Amino acid sequence: MFSGILISKDDDAQSVAVAEIDEAQLPEGDVTIDVEYSTINYKDGLAITGSSPVVRKFPMVPGIDLAGTVSATTHPDWAVGDKVVLNGWGVGETHWGGLAQKARLNGDWLVPLPAEFTARQAMAIGTAGYTAALCVEALVNFGVTPDQGEVLVTGATGGVGSFAVTLLKKAGFSVAAATGKASEADYLKSLGAETIIDRAELAEKGKPMQKERWAGVVDSVGSFTLANACAQTKYRGAVAACGLAQGPDFPATVMPFILRGVSLLGIDSVMAPRAPRLAAWKRLAADLDVADLDVIGHEIGLSEAIGAASDILAGKIRGRVIVDVN
Ligand code: NDP
Repeated sequence: MFSGILISKDDDAQSVAVAEIDEAQLPEGDVTIDVEYSTINYKDGLAITGSSPVVRKFPMVPGIDLAGTVSATTHPDWAVGDKVVLNGWGVGETHWGGLAQKARLNGDWLVPLPAEFTARQAMAIGTAGYTAALCVEALVNFGVTPDQGEVLVTGATGGVGSFAVTLLKKAGFSVAAATGKASEADYLKSLGAETIIDRAELAEKGKPMQKERWAGVVDSVGSFTLANACAQTKYRGAVAACGLAQGPDFPATVMPFILRGVSLLGIDSVMAPRAPRLAAWKRLAADLDVADLDVIGHEIGLSEAIGAASDILAGKIRGRVIVDVN
C-alpha cells in the first residue's frame, strides 16, 4: 500500500482525498517509480478542484510532474536506481500522476534527473520551469537577441513567469515583468527583472497596433494581455504563448503579424518531443542558480496539496509549490 491523492467521480460529483492505494491498482507501464517529490501546477489546480475537465479517467491520481527513483523496469533505457523526472504526457490527466508515493508509466516519457539538481529542486522547477525554458528556447531559436531590446514576461510572479524572468536574465536579456502584485516587485527584481509593469495596463482591450516596446514576449496569461503584448511587439519580434491565466480567448487583430512581421510561437509542454525537452532541461541545468530555487519554491505535504489546488486557481500563490509525497 502507498499514499496518494485520489480523485473519484460518482454520479457526476467529483471527490478528492488522500487515500491508501494498493500497488496492484497502479496502471500499466514499463517503469515503476518511487516518487520523492511532486508539485502543484495551475493544471493540477484545475484537476483537483474539478473546475475544468482536465481529468479524463476516474479514479485518477493527479500530478503532472514527478521526480523520483526507478524501482522496477523492463524499459531498455532505464535501470533500477536511476533518478528520473516526468513532465506532462497526459500524466495526472489520462494516466495516474505524481501526487502519490508510487507511479507506474511509460519509460519513453522520462528524462534523466540532471546531475545539477536534487529531486526536490527538479520539482521546484516542474512543468512551470520546463515550460518557461521551452519559451526561452523558442525565442532564442527564433533569433531574438538581447541587443534587440527588452523581453516582456506576463504572469510574472507565477511559476512559468518566475522562471521565465530568471532564465531570460541569465541568457543576457533585459526583462520587463508584468504583474498584478505590486508588493512583489522586489521578488521579481531579485529574479532579474529590470522593469515592473502593472498587469492592468495589458488586461483590457487595446488598439490593434501600439507603440513598439518588446523584442520578445513570454506570455502565460492569454486573452487581452496576449493581444496587447502582440500589438506592442517590435518589428519582426516574437511572442511565445503558453498560458491562459487571464483567459483562453485571443481578442486580437492580424495587424501586428502582417504589418510588423510579428510571430506567435505556440508552446506546448505536454506532448513536446524528447529533443526540445532535453534542450529545455539542459538550459535549466546550465543557467539556474539553485539558490533561486529556494526563493521560488516552497514545500508542503501531500495532505496540504488539496488546499493548494484552490489557492493556485485563486492566484494566491507566489512561485512554485513543491509537494513532499512521503
Ligand atoms: P500560476 O498560477 O503560478 O501563474 C499564473 C500567473 O498569472 C499568476 O501568478 C498571476 O501573476 C497571473 N494571473 C493570474 N490570473 C490572472 C488574470 N486574471 N489576469 C492576468 N494575469 C493573471 O500558473 P503557472 O505559472 O503554473 O501557469 C501559467 C499558465 O500557463 C497557466 O494558464 C497554465 O495553464 C499555463 N501552462 C501551460 C503550459 C503549456 O504546456 N503550454 C505548461 C504550464 C503552464 P501576477 O500576479 O504576477 O500577475
